Amino acid sequence: MKAAIFKGKGKIEVTDIPKPETKDPTDAVVRVVLACVCGSDLWYFRGISPHPESTIGHEFIGVVESVGSDVKDISVGDFVIAPFAYSDGTCPHCEAGFQTACTHGGFFGMGSGDDGGQSEYVRVPQADGTLFKVPGSDFSEDMLASFLALSDVMGTGYHAAVSAEVEEGDTVAVVGDGAVGLSGVLSAKLLGASRIIVLGSTHENRHDLAKEFGATDIISVRGDEAVAKLMELTDGIGADAVLECVGTKEANDTAFSIARPGALVGRVGVPHHVEIPAEATFFRNVGMKGGPAPVRAYIQKLFDAVVRGDITPGDVFDFKTDLDNIQEAYEMMDQRKAIKSLLRVSTI
Ligand SMILES: [Zn+2]
Repeated sequence: MKAAIFKGKGKIEVTDIPKPETKDPTDAVVRVVLACVCGSDLWYFRGISPHPESTIGHEFIGVVESVGSDVKDISVGDFVIAPFAYSDGTCPHCEAGFQTACTHGGFFGMGSGDDGGQSEYVRVPQADGTLFKVPGSDFSEDMLASFLALSDVMGTGYHAAVSAEVEEGDTVAVVGDGAVGLSGVLSAKLLGASRIIVLGSTHENRHDLAKEFGATDIISVRGDEAVAKLMELTDGIGADAVLECVGTKEANDTAFSIARPGALVGRVGVPHHVEIPAEATFFRNVGMKGGPAPVRAYIQKLFDAVVRGDITPGDVFDFKTDLDNIQEAYEMMDQRKAIKSLLRVSTI
């Protein structure tokens, strides 16, 4: 089968490797229909985080090709959404809604030995707990793109909003206008925010999409200037809830500076050289929650919202290609020519 293999900084190559088979009785193998490139894959592509020379990618939807003998809820032929982490769905952490901390869990395509999603086939451990079986059939391309977004970005943006405890009528600040930040805007809107201020780039296509998703204000300056601008927009109060969707030091510094006293920063950007100020946050009663999003916990709710037409997270995909063009899919995002790249791998 064909699979994208990470070859080192700046290089991804499609290679023929053996098709995966079920190893454990709780495994399934999924034939990938759509996959995509994540902002967190760019940490490897840019040489910032290490990744071995192996399969990569962790966002995919597809059709179940085979199942192990202990798989009960998922059957061959099911059309499924795979969250970026696998989980049994039954351990105490899963039951508490934190499937990314599952005691039998792990992550796809992050170099720890599990298959990557930018491939024709993926072995999915803990299939019953992991895979979300999509009801119905005959979905439009737009709908499929939105289902794909539920494998990570949309669920991650939603986790930022849930972690920041966004409530009806809140003024919400979203730090970052990448695919996760944009999904955070959709999520804040879904949870009833009345004002959504995006602190992001100078890319107008991102601003347009942010506004389409519900953003009311855009701040495209950075650092202290961005903090001052947000304070001006909120009459010196700050944001009721802050979604940190980047992970850099600057983004975190900004996020904690714009949180009003008593607010929570919901963080989903993987922190890189970030220090959270213990004193400043203490004296303003600012808290934080968040981490790797338990996307599996949110899929049903977000799937229903997609089917109702309340959200269209698939709109974040502004570059569509196939697996053979994986290098370009990464480069388009690396060079910020695309918000997010979608890969057509096969058809349902
Ligand atoms: Zn678990």
